[in-house]
Amino acid sequence: MDKTILKRNEESIFNKIKNFIGRDVKSKNESKKLIVVIRFLLILIMVYFSINGLFYIPKLDFKKFLYIIFFFAVFISIFYMSYHCKSLSTLWMFNIVMIVWICSIVHMFGWNIGVQHFLMVLLILYFFSSYKRYLQKISYAVFLCTFRIVLFFIYHYKQPMWKLSTDEENILQIINTITIFVCISVIAFIFSKDSQELEGKLIDYNCMLEKQANTDTLTGLYNRRKAIEYMEQLTKGQTDYGGFSLCICDIDFFKKVNDNYGHDCGDEVLKAISDIFIEETKKDGFAARWGGEEFLLLFPKCNGDNACIKIEQIRRKIKEMRIKKNEIEIGVTMTFGIAEYDYINGLTATIKEADEKLYLGKERGRDIIIF
Ligand code: GH3
Ligand code: MG
Ligand code: MG
Repeated sequence: MDKTILKRNEESIFNKIKNFIGRDVKSKNESKKLIVVIRFLLILIMVYFSINGLFYIPKLDFKKFLYIIFFFAVFISIFYMSYHCKSLSTLWMFNIVMIVWICSIVHMFGWNIGVQHFLMVLLILYFFSSYKRYLQKISYAVFLCTFRIVLFFIYHYKQPMWKLSTDEENILQIINTITIFVCISVIAFIFSKDSQELEGKLIDYNCMLEKQANTDTLTGLYNRRKAIEYMEQLTKGQTDYGGFSLCICDIDFFKKVNDNYGHDCGDEVLKAISDIFIEETKKDGFAARWGGEEFLLLFPKCNGDNACIKIEQIRRKIKEMRIKKNEIEIGVTMTFGIAEYDYINGLTATIKEADEKLYLGKERGRDIIIF
């Protein structure tokens, strides 16, 4: 019981913080995301200041401590500003204060603590902050780059105002590096989250559309469009495909099934036959609904004789299959026409040959394989 109350309280505190940081901007036509990122960065920087402050308090180094307090207060003002001003004004204020702060730190503590890398945070933030303004972005990148180079030449060889020991420099270098990495990760995460989710959805949607375009809805088999595409790939795309055998088959007296038991029963028969085709071709073949109650089976790298063996097994399974409907058992047979791929006359001639053999099978009494 107590645990649930505690959890609910934790949740509400978490929600309160989330709502506080995520509160929308004043103006309706401004990006909420930008202001949320700036608030996150400000919180990170304030944590960073607090850690630095803790670093100096034990040393009773009040000058440095006051300096930290001053900038802490300035960043709190920007945080306050983020709720009352336009996001672009807050962004510029944040940039200006950061640049001043970076300059002053480099001036006071020197180049070795790596605070100049915070300029990268500003660059990335500016690039993500809007979708347009390309010229401004490039200009700002050039400015930050030049600024960093100038700063390097001024301060790299110069003694800082307050010389730190190597240990102090190392600790500050680590704190700065971690803060900069976290800042950049936060910016990249928040700004890329939506577009990545959207991209993922688009990929899934495209896959679904492609599947729908290639599949027959009733039977789940590939449709005629996909079958033609597949055969063209086999014949045109590759030189060493080893040929294939192709079979066109048709249900015998299917019209009678519809007439005697109804169209729904006919559909059930089509589905059951398709399941057999899927099962029998999943390892080394291809099956498609060629149209109505006609199907196309294809076996790559397989000659006609071997295809006959596979199709004989399919023929027998279909003949033995029974579909139960209201105490009635329905059974059907199929007739099959097989042709090996005709290298000289091409795909259309091969399909025609299989088709002619199918109709020969019908003439010869059905439930038969003709090769
Ligand atoms: P044959 O042995 O000569 O092939 O005789 P058949 O009765 O099978 O041939 P016919 O071409 O006269 O009839 C085919 C029937 O298949 C007619 C059509 O209504 C039916 N059919 C085509 N597509 C579907 C479908 O999706 N569902 C159902 N239930 N029937 C279909
Ligand atoms: Mg038929
Ligand atoms: Mg037919």
